[in-house]
Amino acid sequence: SKIKKRLVVLGAGESGVGTAILGKNKGFDVFVSDKGVIAEKYKEVLRNFEIEWEEQQHTENEIMNADVVMKSPGIPDKVELIKKLQKKGVPVISEIEFAARYTTAQIIGITGSNGKTTTTMLTYHVLKQGDLKASMAGNIGDSFAKQVTKNDASFYVLELSSFQLDGIKDFAPHIAVLTNITPDHLDRYDYKLENYVASKFRIAMNQTEEDYFIYDADNKIIEEYLIKHPIRSRLLPFSLTKKFENGTYLEDGNIKITIDNNKIIMPTTDLALEGNHNVKNAMAASTVSHLLKIRKATIRESLENFHGVEHRLEKVLKINNVQYINDSKATNVNATFYALDAMKSATVWIVGGVDKGNDYSELYPLVNEKVKAIICLGVDNSKVINAFGNCVDNIVETQSMKEAVELAYKIAERNENVLLSPACASFDLFKNYEERGRQFKEAVREL
Ligand code: ADP
Repeated sequence: SKIKKRLVVLGAGESGVGTAILGKNKGFDVFVSDKGVIAEKYKEVLRNFEIEWEEQQHTENEIMNADVVMKSPGIPDKVELIKKLQKKGVPVISEIEFAARYTTAQIIGITGSNGKTTTTMLTYHVLKQGDLKASMAGNIGDSFAKQVTKNDASFYVLELSSFQLDGIKDFAPHIAVLTNITPDHLDRYDYKLENYVASKFRIAMNQTEEDYFIYDADNKIIEEYLIKHPIRSRLLPFSLTKKFENGTYLEDGNIKITIDNNKIIMPTTDLALEGNHNVKNAMAASTVSHLLKIRKATIRESLENFHGVEHRLEKVLKINNVQYINDSKATNVNATFYALDAMKSATVWIVGGVDKGNDYSELYPLVNEKVKAIICLGVDNSKVINAFGNCVDNIVETQSMKEAVELAYKIAERNENVLLSPACASFDLFKNYEERGRQFKEAVREL
């Protein structure tokens, strides 16, 4: 009889444990190894499936004899163990690569620096409303691998990080979406933007002429890359300013999608999500939906009744006619740019945290125009103060969310906004951006 192939899974988070289950289900001899402590809920799953595992160590004897290794996205390529495996010729792949081998469903892959989660959820929402048998995976809910084990979807809408894409070999989405590219995560890419850009474009590297590539044509980095490195799939650009024979654009306040002379037109006025960035996300989601032949009325209604995503320009409460908005997920400058851009009146802006090498200059015009006060919320606020000290008179430092929100309450007047959009990571004062956002909402509700 055939000897079982050995699958080693490095990292026992959602994607690692999902891959282990799928591997077991497909007849692999599976071993899971995590250098940290494995969460109790995952240990229980591993026990239930009778999968061998270890924690707080990587035992090389158990790992080097793998036929294939699945590496969790949090583990960099540079670590010694990974280099050793690669030297020995053991394929090291991501969950996406592994799981996609076991499904014949159509895959819609969504990547970009900002807007991945929003576009993924929006697309999934429209597909569901269009009665397609769709599943969604990425940052939310069950891993892709776990869902492939269940094998009950005809379409997968996948949010793909560049780390997931770094670990693909043959993975090819039928429809790829690239929402935008701005500098992010450069620490993992030798501080070279070109490496990060190349990583994002891996989403298209195995696509064929039958596949589609939907992208933001207003983004210079993407446009320049495409000129130098043509791709095989059919290009469907979207833009707020340009027009296309094939693609998606704005005309007289309407979103216009044309694919092979097949047109649909939808007003932007009733979109559930506000801001120009969300017009783009809606363009991407509706282009996918049009390709999948969902009725225009369904697409339109779905874009109107979408309830939004927590921590992304999320409206919390109106108090004394002041709108409180939670945009805790804005962990980089570009995301905050679109948040400020979406503000329709004067705004008290709560900003700061762990700065990943931010260049704030692109925010100056918006801050000058809309921000009446800045409340810094971080352990080290010097960069924010240096950057904006000249634009805004009222700039104060705080050390807790409660303090920041109470101060904002005192400053903001009728018809104005209080916006938490930090442009920074959260790790100095909070566990993660979700906790930061939740604390904001709690503090607002206590006012
Ligand atoms: P991701 O999953 O790529 O991090 P999210 O949808 O979670 O993206 O949004 C992250 C942040 O970026 C939020 O603050 C959101 O308001 C903002 N954002 C959403 N879509 C876009 C976009 N197309 N361009 C720029 N910023 C965006």
